[in-house]
Amino acid sequence: MISRTPDAPQPARWQRELAGAITDPAELLARLQLDPALLEPARAAAATFALRVPASYLARMRPGDPHDPLLRQVLPLGAELTSPPGYLADPVGDLPAGRVPGLLQKYRGRALVITTGACAVHCRYCFRRHYPYAQAQLTPGRRAAILAALAGDRQIHEVILSGGDPLSLGDHRLADLVAALGEIPHLRRLRLHTRTPIVLPSRIDGQLSKWLAASRLPMVFVLHANHPQELDSTVASALARLRQAGATLLNQAVLLRGVNDDAETLVRLSERLFEIGVLPYYLHLLDPVRGAAHFDVPLARARALLAEISGRLSGYLVPRLVREIPGAPAKVPVDLQLAD
Ligand SMILES: *Cc1c(COP(=O)(O)O)cnc(C)c1O
Ligand code: SF4
Repeated sequence: MISRTPDAPQPARWQRELAGAITDPAELLARLQLDPALLEPARAAAATFALRVPASYLARMRPGDPHDPLLRQVLPLGAELTSPPGYLADPVGDLPAGRVPGLLQKYRGRALVITTGACAVHCRYCFRRHYPYAQAQLTPGRRAAILAALAGDRQIHEVILSGGDPLSLGDHRLADLVAALGEIPHLRRLRLHTRTPIVLPSRIDGQLSKWLAASRLPMVFVLHANHPQELDSTVASALARLRQAGATLLNQAVLLRGVNDDAETLVRLSERLFEIGVLPYYLHLLDPVRGAAHFDVPLARARALLAEISGRLSGYLVPRLVREIPGAPAKVPVDLQLAD
């Protein structure tokens, strides 16, 4: 029998699920009954950017289907090891935008905090797959320097917690950070950029709701879902809890070849998001990060898709198609081309 001291903290359910995430390509293939021939390239690609997928996300994939749109986002492929010109380690200019270590500011009025390098899932197309996260962990010294920089700049009205994924951090650290941000009088809003509620919905538990509801700052969650199949009833319940705690919910997606590059999928994604209380915000063109070229959707095709979904959806369900250009003052809209 295992004896425990009565006050030893028990890991929360989400922490146990996170610790049990699948990281071995052989296990992923076996669980989904996929062709063992995928194993060798998966191992090779996972050596450059590890495989990571929580069981709760895997449960939404179709066994036996190598083209499943959820699987495609997490399965390491040999194609990642080819490197066409123009695909870079830091495609969006994150490194030059650092103000103090862990604090990025590119746009007026808002600044972004890298809270952790960890994510509940590893997305193969991630634009930060090569980011030197180890140099941007939120150590106590860094945290103090970031808070001082924010407190000293009255132009900043909104702080974005990002990463990695801020919800990989435990609730104590998040609650402390959010409380400290709440004490900076010129901050008006707090934003979290997170994919965790989509891939690990158990993360949205009572502990999290508590600090969320306690903050004086209005909270905006910018979620990251790419396909309607990701949005099952467990995700819907998690998002309902976020809304109950007072958060506004938006979604950003990435346009990905073989995942969501057809109008029907994009329409269903917007419709399903609305059904579960989320408005579409951005649809990003792929950032040209090294290892992700096989996900690219050409600009002309992206515009054609936007035109088609604009003709089928209510205006507020059409995400803004944008791309990030290093040095630009905002995300750059990739407008429909109108005949003149
Ligand atoms: C994308 C991004 C933001 C947020 O931009 P919005 O258009 O306000 O969503 C803010 N800071 C940085 C550094 C970013 O990369
Ligand atoms: S969750 Fe976001 S930051 Fe993390 S790997 Fe996926 S895209 Fe990258």
